[in-house]
Amino acid sequence: MKHDNKNIMVVLSSPSGAGKTTITKKIQQKFSSFKISVSHTTRKPRPNEVNGVDYHFINSEKFKFLINENKLYEHAKIFDNYYGTSKEIVDNLIKTNDIIFDIDWQGNQQLSKYKNLNLVKIFITTKNKEEVKNRLMKRNQDSKEEVKKRLMSFEEDIKHWDDYDYIVTNDDLENCFKQIENIILLHKKPIIFPRTIQ
Ligand code: ADP
Ligand code: 5GP
Repeated sequence: MKHDNKNIMVVLSSPSGAGKTTITKKIQQKFSSFKISVSHTTRKPRPNEVNGVDYHFINSEKFKFLINENKLYEHAKIFDNYYGTSKEIVDNLIKTNDIIFDIDWQGNQQLSKYKNLNLVKIFITTKNKEEVKNRLMKRNQDSKEEVKKRLMSFEEDIKHWDDYDYIVTNDDLENCFKQIENIILLHKKPIIFPRTIQ
């Protein structure tokens, strides 16, 4: 479908634990125009996650159906589970909102093929891998095995930084958010109408 250019789509990717979820929430608090693209996943919900809010939690059969029916803009297998972005959800949201996508580098590459989407692609990183490890342990929402898998994908994740328009380090959260806020404001320039000549 044709998307209206005045609404933007901000893609946030990072190694797991670098701060995408935290920053996504801050963007929504600051800019009421932003809605999150709630992905579908075959992953099991974490204790604090709500179906339809954090993800649409579905089984593999339903996920395969969405792929076969061409209902997804993009999808990827990550840490042994499937994750994907619904075309219907995005096409409806973009009519009246800006959108944030919390997706990985594979999803970013697939979305980038749609030239009609007004994407602003931001890669978030941390000063080093140790910091991600500390945050994942502190978050304490994944099993040891899950944390290990997430850390193992760190090198693969950061290899793809070059696919993005902006790279921001999430060292100090407020500082990082300020940079992201500036990026958003740059792309949400007010539309200037030409003055009529009198
Ligand atoms: P992601 O969504 O990328 O996996 P999260 O947003 O869940 O990452 O952040 C992982 C953990 O790190 C959370 O506990 C979060 O509160 C914490 N965190 C996020 N940003 C920072 C930061 N700048 N400094 C310290 N801790 C942070
Ligand atoms: P988590 O299990 O921690 O919620 O997410 C794991 C990874 O999946 C994160 O890198 C997150 O950005 C990514 N992810 C979440 N939803 C999607 C999606 O719809 N598509 C893709 N490609 N990645 C996603």
